[in-house]
Amino acid sequence: HILDSQPVIRQLDEGAINRIAAGEVVERPASAVKELVENALDAGATRIEVTVADGGKTLIRVADDGCGIPPEALPLALSRHATSKIDGSDLLNIHSFGFRGEALPSLGAVGRLTLTSRAKGHEAAEIKVSGGQLSAVKPAALNKGTVAELRDLFYATPARLKFLRTDRAEMQAVTDVIKRLAMAEPFVGFTLSDASGGDTRTIFRADPESGDLFDALHGRLATILGRDFAENALKIDATRDGIRMSGYAALPTYSRGAAVAQFLFVNGRPVKDKLLTGALRAAYFDYLSRDRHPVAALFLDCDPQLVDVNVHPAKSEVRFRDPGTARGLIVSGLRHALAEAGHRASTTVAH
Ligand code: ADP
Ligand code: MG
Repeated sequence: HILDSQPVIRQLDEGAINRIAAGEVVERPASAVKELVENALDAGATRIEVTVADGGKTLIRVADDGCGIPPEALPLALSRHATSKIDGSDLLNIHSFGFRGEALPSLGAVGRLTLTSRAKGHEAAEIKVSGGQLSAVKPAALNKGTVAELRDLFYATPARLKFLRTDRAEMQAVTDVIKRLAMAEPFVGFTLSDASGGDTRTIFRADPESGDLFDALHGRLATILGRDFAENALKIDATRDGIRMSGYAALPTYSRGAAVAQFLFVNGRPVKDKLLTGALRAAYFDYLSRDRHPVAALFLDCDPQLVDVNVHPAKSEVRFRDPGTARGLIVSGLRHALAEAGHRASTTVAH
């Protein structure tokens, strides 16, 4: 096709830029929930309450008891590439869930977002953004922490709205996001409620766990995966070349017909990664028939320099500097634990 005039290069306006970024960050209601709950966790919340209506299409509200945002910082929190979590000079050293400063401006570009917050030593205040337009900061009533309320997600991008699945399917995805984050943070209390059609039903609830990290995780996994899992789970703790794997993996006898109960975390972040799930499968290869799948919640932790979390805007993909080490650790660590458990079982029988 032949151009009939010279193309003009223009700088996109902030609204358009935010809508484009939002397309990557906010695919569906569950991604908005993920961003808001991660913000609450980064703020040091001990309790997080999530309320969703109509699969998140009409309402997503996340309330936390974290550090809050001072009134004068509210407009900044909603502007693009503004973050309190990194200073930009060290992208290799990320210890928070967030760091891109894109979630809130993106949400404000594709829905109507109200942020109400109270930081220590400040009055509570709120700010609204819709269609990318910020309101003035106004006084509000709130005791502590932050409430982020997102209404009418994708009202500004009807094409995206059309791609959403049923309310039920979207709610399922929201629940999955909350459960994964609840596994990653067993000391934090979570509730998820469905406020569709006026009344509010609790969908999921996990009270803050106590004890050491393994105890807390075990308790949290019992809440999320059931007592059966907890009773059939092997404690996993292995290290190789600077990467530690910890968590729980179920005995082969407690497997599933689909790979739906495999939860993997890298430096505290829930990830979906083929390399890691492939390693999990390989570890159980000798113990499970082809149509059975292991159940596990495994945490890989290493120096942030050994893994890049900046691969995808939703941050659910990671890249290890040395993928072989991660894979080897999973395979050998789990095989060792399974072999030991098998040995224990057979010596118990022998006695
Ligand atoms: P990021 O999380 O990548 O920094 P966001 O757009 O998600 O970017 O948030 C921007 C900033 O707003 C955060 O860096 C943080 O300072 C502040 N913020 C957002 N949500 C909360 C919250 N729930 N509690 C306290 N501060 C928050
Ligand atoms: Mg964030």
